[in-house]
Amino acid sequence: MIQSVLGAEQGSRWTALADRVLSGHQLTTEEALEILDTPDNELLDLLSGAYRIRRHYFDNTVQLYFLVNAKSGICPEDCNYCSQSKVSDAEIPKYKILSEEQLIEGAQKAKELNSRTYCIVISGRSPTPQEMRTVTSVVPKIKEKFGLHICACLGLLSPDQARELKSCGVDRVNHNLNTGEDHYAEICTTHTYQDRMETLQAVRDAGLEMCSGGIIGMGEKREHIVQMATALRDMKVQSIPVNFLNAIDGTPLEKRQEIEPRYCLKVLAMFRFVNPDREIRIAGGREIQLRSLQPLGLFAANSIFVGDYLTTKGQAPLRDYQMIEDLGFRIVVRNEKGEESVCQPPKLEANPLEIVS
Ligand code: SF4
Repeated sequence: MIQSVLGAEQGSRWTALADRVLSGHQLTTEEALEILDTPDNELLDLLSGAYRIRRHYFDNTVQLYFLVNAKSGICPEDCNYCSQSKVSDAEIPKYKILSEEQLIEGAQKAKELNSRTYCIVISGRSPTPQEMRTVTSVVPKIKEKFGLHICACLGLLSPDQARELKSCGVDRVNHNLNTGEDHYAEICTTHTYQDRMETLQAVRDAGLEMCSGGIIGMGEKREHIVQMATALRDMKVQSIPVNFLNAIDGTPLEKRQEIEPRYCLKVLAMFRFVNPDREIRIAGGREIQLRSLQPLGLFAANSIFVGDYLTTKGQAPLRDYQMIEDLGFRIVVRNEKGEESVCQPPKLEANPLEIVS
């Protein structure tokens, strides 16, 4: 009787589903949609199920990513969520690709912030020959000096470009699907979902790891989110960044409404159930959409960005370290040889109330 009053019988369905996933069950579309429709009073039960899976594959570890916006703005594409697109009036820095020295400085910062992965991101449809030369020249130097795991996000890639990146030591390429196939034309008209899939295929064929995810809150239906999560599973991508739209003034999506933090958690849990052993990262929009529920997101996801995003600020790294420490989680770090180990996040020296941003 007490059990049913507390909803324990209801909650146990997520534990049971997690156990089935750990035994090899592949989530159906209906089950994934049910997760997104979970009543709020079952949210902790759902997260408990997601954590059961996360713990099995990643224990209590968190991977930190640091990105450098290596070329900003001036993009001819019309992705309507992006402050760097040709249809955006957002006031953002605009510059061509950074110098090798600046990219190495970014890597130094990534190392100082205890990132496992350094992401080199440029705006634009595809990398120019000069941009490819810069990236392929600097990556071996960064790997030699810092041992960081390197992810490049350079836009659409040909098979030859993907092979070049692999040859210079890039570990992984990010290229987001962004939304479900059936919703793609609503967010961009200058390239297609299929273009993006072809880049991912080129990346996979070159032997690179694939990083691909999306953005929640762009007017999509729940079915579109599930469609994206299952497409990423079918592509066997290794890493899935889940962004929550930060509606930037001057972009076509500037008026989009906030997403409920509890819904963000359901989305993260659904990604974990659908892609049980994949890295799932709470990416852009974490601070403004999950707000005070950020720590709960790490019961489903196992990774976050530390520092700033492409054109928006992130919270102070010390806040992230404090959150991870408070959860009792540990971070994954790499030494100069690229060997990985797990350690406590750096200690917070400042008064938490004095940390801003
Ligand atoms: S997401 Fe990339 S391709 Fe699309 S507008 Fe922004 S920088 Fe350009």
